Amino acid sequence: MTALARVEGLEVFYGASQALFGVDLAVEPGQAVALMGRNGMGKTTTIRTLCRMQAPYKGRVWFDGQDITRLPSYKAARLGIGLVPEGRRCFATLTVTENLIAAARPGPWTLQTVRDFFPRLGERADQQAATLSGGEQQMLAIGRALMTNPRLLVLDEATEGLAPVIRKEIWAAIARLKAQGQAILIVDKTLSELKPIADACVILERGRSVWTGTPGAITPEIERRYLGL
Ligand code: ATP
Repeated sequence: MTALARVEGLEVFYGASQALFGVDLAVEPGQAVALMGRNGMGKTTTIRTLCRMQAPYKGRVWFDGQDITRLPSYKAARLGIGLVPEGRRCFATLTVTENLIAAARPGPWTLQTVRDFFPRLGERADQQAATLSGGEQQMLAIGRALMTNPRLLVLDEATEGLAPVIRKEIWAAIARLKAQGQAILIVDKTLSELKPIADACVILERGRSVWTGTPGAITPEIERRYLGL
């Protein structure tokens, strides 16, 4: 099967300092893949490179069989890579609905279906994004990405900094998307939450993908070695 998205041998520099030393990962259609690792191991850099916001020094990025290593990020988005960035990044002065409409591209996800999915976004339709709670902003960030009708949804630390009850709500939403067949690449550190959702986990250690397998295959030893605090 051709992977929906694949990165191979990624090496990335920020100026003179190397952040990635060899990252490989693949997401098959309909799969949810978790990208894990401690702080600063290169998860965001990997995602930014996949979304073509960061140029690799070496390695390749493939999407649906096409080499997109040199494609500008807006074209990668058009091909169907929808990013929910770390820190959410909604348009602060636009309303919820304006934020959603600004992202719209044709497909099954529309203003109505996104509101059905996250009723809170319908209730807060005319509220400025800046005045939403953290959890609502996260729903808006996911809603915006869905409005692009992505073939791959990429979530960077989607539950970071949120209250436990809101985290639960976001995880439930991600599980619903996965059940609908949405391909997902998700960066997160909470193995317990990822376990029921992820088909595969890729663990990064100092800019390298060092372990790939099912979440169930992550032994306490692997967890201690690569994911422990
Ligand atoms: P976290 O979980 O803390 O978000 P991460 O696994 O996503 O971390 P990255 O943010 O990809 O890791 O960072 C990987 C390495 O690259 C780190 O050493 C970081 O300091 C460095 N780095 C990230 N962004 C930049 C930048 N804009 N300029 C210079 N170095 C950077």
